[in-house]
Amino acid sequence: MTGADDTDYLSAFRTELGLPGIIDVHTHFMPDQVLRKVWAYFDSAGPLIGRAWPIAYRADEQVRLKTLRDFGVRAFTALVYPHKPNMAAWLNEWTADFAARTPDCLHTATFFPEPEAESYVAAAVQDGARVFKAHVQVGDYHPGDPLLEPVWGLLEDAQIPIVIHCGSGPAPGTHTGTEPIAGVLQRFPRLPLIIAHMGTPEYSEFLDLAEAYPNLRLDTTMVWTDFSEADAPYPIGEHSRLRSLADRILFGSDFPNIPHSYGHSVHALERLDLGDDWLRQVCYHNAATLFGIE
Ligand SMILES: [Zn+2]
Repeated sequence: MTGADDTDYLSAFRTELGLPGIIDVHTHFMPDQVLRKVWAYFDSAGPLIGRAWPIAYRADEQVRLKTLRDFGVRAFTALVYPHKPNMAAWLNEWTADFAARTPDCLHTATFFPEPEAESYVAAAVQDGARVFKAHVQVGDYHPGDPLLEPVWGLLEDAQIPIVIHCGSGPAPGTHTGTEPIAGVLQRFPRLPLIIAHMGTPEYSEFLDLAEAYPNLRLDTTMVWTDFSEADAPYPIGEHSRLRSLADRILFGSDFPNIPHSYGHSVHALERLDLGDDWLRQVCYHNAATLFGIE
């Protein structure tokens, strides 16, 4: 599928389901110089990626925004993530400005285990942040780091969702997998985590966590696409839990850093054959409810 076909496919998809649009909880917008470094890393197929990963939507920011809107995406995030200390507060300044000039973007913020984390996270919440991003693999930190205790407490109290990459895909990190984050959930059981990529490749373990913690959600980012299935196939035996947890699964794409068309991310859900109601919930209503989108 190319651009125009994609737009047609997504338009038909929305019309058939009677959806006002798609809500994508997993998109990346970040300062230009950072995004260029991310793209260079993907191009190099570095160890965190592990294989060739051609970026499908490499374009200027305004072009990327128009592309998403043309696809019928009505609300999206600007997921930023620091890979070192002294970076998160600066990223949060950028995302606040981006959200202010991009009304369809949910104001996003991030953090890193560092002494200042509590104060800049509190400031971001005060400033209207509606979603956070944490990247345990790229950040290479333990989510149970004592420096994050006040951050988890604050976000649990404020009930602000955190999209967290803590599964061991595409390549495992020192602190990925369910065990480190399960320790955090034991102490902060109401934490509204959104497990990115359904926890790829530890699908079953993260579904277990979702069953244990009612505020836990999962995003579909890249799961069931040809690219993901070739590397980390989702177990057929776990399809029934997709139905039982239907109200806690949210559509995500990883736009623009995806090795396939945007339409393929949606088609990957459609071909699961879980029914129109499931698609409506996952592609729109669950996120609309969570973020209070009309
Ligand atoms: Zn991502």
